Amino acid sequence: MAAFDDLIAALPAWPTILGVHLLLIVVPASAAFLALWVWKGNPLRGRKIQPGYAPSHAIRREVFYSLQTAFIFALNGVFIYVAMAKGWSLTYTEVADYGWAYAVFSLAATIVLHDAYFYWTHRLMHHPRLFDRFHRLHHESHSPSPWAAYAFAPLEAVIQALFLTILIFVLPLHVMVIYLFMAHMIVRNVIGHSGFEFFPRGTPAHAVFGLLTTNTHHDLHHSATGSNYGLYFTWWDRLAGTEHPRYREVFDRVTGGREGPAAPSSGAAVTWTPAASANESPGLRRRAPAP
Ligand SMILES: [Zn+2]
Ligand SMILES: [Zn+2]
Repeated sequence: MAAFDDLIAALPAWPTILGVHLLLIVVPASAAFLALWVWKGNPLRGRKIQPGYAPSHAIRREVFYSLQTAFIFALNGVFIYVAMAKGWSLTYTEVADYGWAYAVFSLAATIVLHDAYFYWTHRLMHHPRLFDRFHRLHHESHSPSPWAAYAFAPLEAVIQALFLTILIFVLPLHVMVIYLFMAHMIVRNVIGHSGFEFFPRGTPAHAVFGLLTTNTHHDLHHSATGSNYGLYFTWWDRLAGTEHPRYREVFDRVTGGREGPAAPSSGAAVTWTPAASANESPGLRRRAPAP
């Protein structure tokens, strides 16, 4: 039980690790929220993806569950800290051990592997048998704010945390690569839930940049669940046939340059409705325009 004793001995490090995780979530989410949702001079105000803003009680719910996620990530962080300190994992601190080329490659590989892990675990959590316990809470943000990025149920937070916990035993990673990976993950996640489109016009149709998920891509996953499961890249959705059929049309409308929020489709308003049965994910419902 030496390993268990090591974990217990490391528990005093938990408050510090928790502080780091709180900062990693609170700073980007607060900055994006203030710049996009509060500041009247927001230069992207004409690129609101869905009409309207989530009510304040929905934002408070997202903040609460984001802070809960930080607690869970920090508990997992204690295990990672001990695994690194005790030499159980393949992490290293001297770049010269593997060289700069490997450090760059390992960062790119970690991002690509995380995208695959996210896509497939995400699809699994949409299975009717798992959806309620793992993932429904995240989908209560029908029109997400930056605070929705880490608004997870505890079981989903564990699934999200496990990727790095597994990877440090599979791939040698420099400590700085781990920090850069986490920074990239948090920034992409926060802007993907920001409610506004950052990417230039024509991005989804571009041969190279179209491989990146835009903010509209993930926003559509919240307003029209059942498509767009990817995190950083679009290739898994394209290969598996799960890209939203009107993704490019919606993106073009959002980035069309006109003032005011862009409706996700012509004329009809989009409303979210809960699953009608255990076998159905929450879905998009079209409400006929008022006569
Ligand atoms: Zn989902
Ligand atoms: Zn989301």
